[in-house]
Amino acid sequence: MERLQAKPEEWWRVTSLDDGISLIDEPFIKPFYRCNCWHVRGEGADLLVDSGMGVVSLRTWVPLVTERPLLAVASHTHFDHIGCHHEFDCRAVHRAEAHVLANPSRAETLAEPYVCDAMFDVFPPGSFSAAGYEVCSAPATRLLEDGEEIEVGGRVFEVLHTPGHSPGGIALWEARTGVLFSGDIIYDGPLVEDAPHSSLDEYAVSLERLLSLPVRVVHGGHFPSFGGVRLRALITSWLKEHGRQASQNLFLT
Ligand SMILES: [Zn+2]
Ligand SMILES: [Zn+2]
Repeated sequence: MERLQAKPEEWWRVTSLDDGISLIDEPFIKPFYRCNCWHVRGEGADLLVDSGMGVVSLRTWVPLVTERPLLAVASHTHFDHIGCHHEFDCRAVHRAEAHVLANPSRAETLAEPYVCDAMFDVFPPGSFSAAGYEVCSAPATRLLEDGEEIEVGGRVFEVLHTPGHSPGGIALWEARTGVLFSGDIIYDGPLVEDAPHSSLDEYAVSLERLLSLPVRVVHGGHFPSFGGVRLRALITSWLKEHGRQASQNLFLT
């Protein structure tokens, strides 16, 4: 059976949101697999959080990411988040996953077992094969630690190390706007907490930490964005379902 293939110029979708933030995503990938890439406009320099699965060039087809100097951060190194990192000169990742960005094996990026034909509504252009899919190496030019600040074009993001989904997962917190880029540690959809390198204990600690922030809007790794009230509801129900008590629940008292 002939399969439906997209044209490269149709592959990426860009949606402008508030706070100088744009969502860049791949609409022909089914929602559970579809990564949200976040572009943040600064003064004279921009930030990109995650880069999709790399089956169509982001730089070639999305001029937004080429207009100014740009730092490409990886929220973590699963295949759906780092596929186009090799297209950018400046790349940042948490120290605990730097080796994966440099040597992105199918196992550690979760390409094995997740990449499959069923993840697409329409196939990418070219000769895509799920079995042959690989992420390109993109060694980090900057290693991130918990608590450090990323300053890009006058905007300041605090790096929060949020392991649990993966060992080097991070969230980025912009206190001035109340914006949280959460990666895959929390979003409004089915979470993945059973990968070989996942840890439920770390997951719980990371989620509790996010409860303590006065978050206004969450831009996650998958699914639509949501507000602080929804964030706190998602976290408290996760903790309850996993038999854990929120110990520093500042916003529900
Ligand atoms: Zn992930
Ligand atoms: Zn993901």
